[in-house]
Amino acid sequence: NPADTNPAENGPALVNPPVDGSELIRFDKVTKRFGDNTVLDRLDFSVDSGKHVTLIGPSGSGKTTILRLLMTLAEPDEGTIRVGGEYLTHEERGGKLVRAGEKHVREVRKNIGMVFQQFNLFPNMKVLRNITEAPVTVLGLSRDEAEQRARDLLELVGLTEHLDKYPTQLSGGQQQRVAIARALAMRPQVLLLDEVTSALDPELVAGVLDVLRDIARTTDITMLCVTHEMNFARDISDQVLMFDSGRVIESGPPEKIFSEPEQERTREFLSAVL
Ligand code: ADP
Repeated sequence: NPADTNPAENGPALVNPPVDGSELIRFDKVTKRFGDNTVLDRLDFSVDSGKHVTLIGPSGSGKTTILRLLMTLAEPDEGTIRVGGEYLTHEERGGKLVRAGEKHVREVRKNIGMVFQQFNLFPNMKVLRNITEAPVTVLGLSRDEAEQRARDLLELVGLTEHLDKYPTQLSGGQQQRVAIARALAMRPQVLLLDEVTSALDPELVAGVLDVLRDIARTTDITMLCVTHEMNFARDISDQVLMFDSGRVIESGPPEKIFSEPEQERTREFLSAVL
């Protein structure tokens, strides 16, 4: 009975709809180029719902590009991306795959939330409004419903007392926790995290990672993270994908990747960052 569940304890209210372990994200032979630079090279990978997958690898290996493709901030040159079985930029019509209209893209995109390196909060809106804006305008929630949702999430990220402040009145770490709450307020099936602590002063990193650890532990939201925080990756990941030059060169559970990597390139990378 959903009414018996306590969101603070297991967080199911944050995730919509509940996960069933089926494939949520699939990249099929995705190629992305910028001029002569082939950033992703016929990339295949998938993420099952409820899993926490971390992308690691040297700078420039294409990790952020993957998240940007999922957010439709960039488009593949070749190959297809599916989210929840639906093509992201295409739709099937009369047995053929054609370019999707904007409405289709918007619908599929609703399943995806993203937190960026640079927070990207709306500077002219107070914290509460930053979180309620999209649920009201995009999902059509009433302001009351959206505020309730925002208050629950602010509690989760430990910022209840700051709901009436503007972003510039908060530390970077606090702003990033607001950005996490804002992404979750849309109840996406998958949360994309793009180096979310890289722009923070070192003393603020732990607070943000602790919030994410909590979310990973207490909800079954699917996570796809790009991070340089290897201890965090080890803690939260079900699977780690090691990238080099736009390809997955090794993947597996964190115990294997961090303790017994098979590829020389993975060993080199880890010894440089650990
Ligand atoms: P990572 O996240 O692994 O550091 P990125 O996905 O950010 O790698 O970048 C992969 C490569 O694509 C880099 O060589 C980068 O310079 C290039 N790149 C990314 N975005 C653009 C862009 N908008 N225009 C041109 N080149 C880009």
